Amino acid sequence: SLSVNRLNIKDNILYNPYKATIPKLSISEYIYSKIESYCDLTAFECPITHRKFTYGELRKTSRNLSKAFRKKFGLSKGDVVLIYLVNCPEFPVACLGCFEAGLVASTVNSLYTSEEVLRQLKDSSAKLIITSYDLHENAAKAVSQLPTKLPIICVKTKAGQLLPRGAIDFTEIINSTIDIPDLELPSPDDLAILPYSSGTTGLPKGVRLSHSNIVSNMVQTDEPNSMLQSANANFQEISPGVLPMFHIYGFTITTLNLMLKGAKALTLPRFHPDTFIDCLRQYAISVIFAAPPLILFMTHSPEIKKEYFKHLRTVLSGAAPLGAKDEEQFRNKAGEQVAILQGYGLTETSPVISMCKREIQEKFGDATKGSIGLVVPNTEIKIVEVGSNNGIALGPNEQGELLVKGPQVMQGYHNNEEATKSTFLDGWFRTGDMAYYDQNELIFITDRVKELIKVKGFQVAPAELEELLRQHPHIADAAVIGIPDEISGEIPRAYVKIKEKLNPEDVYNFVAQKVAKYKRLDGGIEVVEELPKNSAGKILRRQLKQRYLDEN
Ligand code: AMP
Repeated sequence: SLSVNRLNIKDNILYNPYKATIPKLSISEYIYSKIESYCDLTAFECPITHRKFTYGELRKTSRNLSKAFRKKFGLSKGDVVLIYLVNCPEFPVACLGCFEAGLVASTVNSLYTSEEVLRQLKDSSAKLIITSYDLHENAAKAVSQLPTKLPIICVKTKAGQLLPRGAIDFTEIINSTIDIPDLELPSPDDLAILPYSSGTTGLPKGVRLSHSNIVSNMVQTDEPNSMLQSANANFQEISPGVLPMFHIYGFTITTLNLMLKGAKALTLPRFHPDTFIDCLRQYAISVIFAAPPLILFMTHSPEIKKEYFKHLRTVLSGAAPLGAKDEEQFRNKAGEQVAILQGYGLTETSPVISMCKREIQEKFGDATKGSIGLVVPNTEIKIVEVGSNNGIALGPNEQGELLVKGPQVMQGYHNNEEATKSTFLDGWFRTGDMAYYDQNELIFITDRVKELIKVKGFQVAPAELEELLRQHPHIADAAVIGIPDEISGEIPRAYVKIKEKLNPEDVYNFVAQKVAKYKRLDGGIEVVEELPKNSAGKILRRQLKQRYLDEN
């Protein structure tokens, strides 16, 4: 039976009274303990080429890979492997292989240019790269900039592809059994993944997430009432895997949690309307993990018919705010049988902090519209006045910054003591998000205090674009903000102080060459006399944003 505990509030601190038991296991041990009965079921399949792995194959190939990492490539515990892959059936194999060998998977956005890959390669001190045929050129270019050569393992994604020169064949590695005893498993507090996030300020930083962080969040999102059904003789959850697996939401909540249930994920390498629609048409899709732009697309695309949602029961939206109206419009199209749930979290919190699940919606009805639900088990949150350092928790319906404590909160930023220190306040992690909770203890996100811009759910760090702009010979200084955009949620816009006359189009192209597409300055470039700064020289981006909003 479904139960919803009212959250408890003590001294204005919200917590979920349900206590989940978190197994003290590494990610791979936990997953393997759950999938034994699913051996013959397909776990991951590319709906375009039909490359696939059953659960049994997943188990076997990732063990082979883990041994090869140690024996063939000489990696040792704690070494970092860069995973630069599009969504593909090999992605989870690569990650599980790392986990089983006690290595750290640093996942990279597959849309990144070689310069962006190089930055993460250097910062993470990765010892090996796993990439795919289409991305190999970028990976090799990044590696060529390093003082030492790194092995590049390459996934061939289509029949007939020749292995790029110098690359090592992924398929060959995972299918070769190496005769060494099983490796010693990592302990729960060992580092497992190192994704990148800019946090509240500055450049992207490695987020240190342990096995225990991830296992905790898998349990916290699954209990007390799971969104997903376990596979049995008559049923298997099927989900189109469009959320990028490199991002923590596509990783923990989508890839790993689906595995726990013996589900089938259809790995879509890139979001492309046609292939996505084909998936909806051809498979009995039962669950969709999405970011708001995908929900808008499904609502408004005339090619997507109501009957494609016949088997659909659950849609989870996260990574950016989903408006109450957008939620309603999608429900009208998909039908009443579909529960549209929202989750909220950050890379730094593995990711989920709160969720609005079906039973919460049933209990609170319309009051949940636009809400990110109740705090997940084993987690505490409080709202504090923005900018205050006293940590005093505000009461219901009072807006402020959301702070969180729980087993899913990261260990800290990689090689960045200072950023780690300033993001915690007496053991509470500062999310940089503005929120309040109401009399039902439902949480609502209202704004972002931090400078981060989210384009289609992807992170864009203003500091990164500003640094790039300052490299332009005619630019003296720059500030970047996010402005609202109907399709992408937000898009980046630059304000530049110039040394010499310049053509905004050239500036646009200058940036476009160096960054992933979604980071381009599609919100425009404006030349200004001065940039607003405080006495310490910090750019006042909020002031620029307010000015933009007032003028438009
Ligand atoms: P990332 O680390 O890329 O997952 O980005 C985390 C940020 O995304 C959060 O700090 C929020 O600003 C935003 N975010 C994530 N989920 C939601 C949501 N459901 N509603 C509003 N903002 C969200």
